[in-house]
Amino acid sequence: MRVPSELVPKCPVCGKPMSMNLRADDTFVEDDGWHKAAERYDEFLRRHEGLHILFLELGVGMNTPVIIKYPFWKMTYANPKAVYTCVNYGEAYAPDEIRGQSICINGDIHEVLNAL
Ligand SMILES: [Zn+2]
Repeated sequence: MRVPSELVPKCPVCGKPMSMNLRADDTFVEDDGWHKAAERYDEFLRRHEGLHILFLELGVGMNTPVIIKYPFWKMTYANPKAVYTCVNYGEAYAPDEIRGQSICINGDIHEVLNAL
């Protein structure tokens, strides 16, 4: 269960090993494309505020819950028409406050989506 080092992508500029863009440290990149996507997301939320909406959370764990999970919980709590769905292998959970608006599926995302 190891990745051979020759398969780790290298930065074309400095040659250092590349990694995924995660909010794990101060190297997270928010470029022009990221900001445009963030604006589209904000606009979508603005246009659907108070409407019947599904917050579909796929495989979000507790590493950085403030990015997706907690906002989804808060927006579901604030909107009685909202539905929160959590598909997660081993961590499918919703707080008591939104339990009646939640669908938690404990399973492999690939299998769940195929079954749908
Ligand atoms: Zn580099």
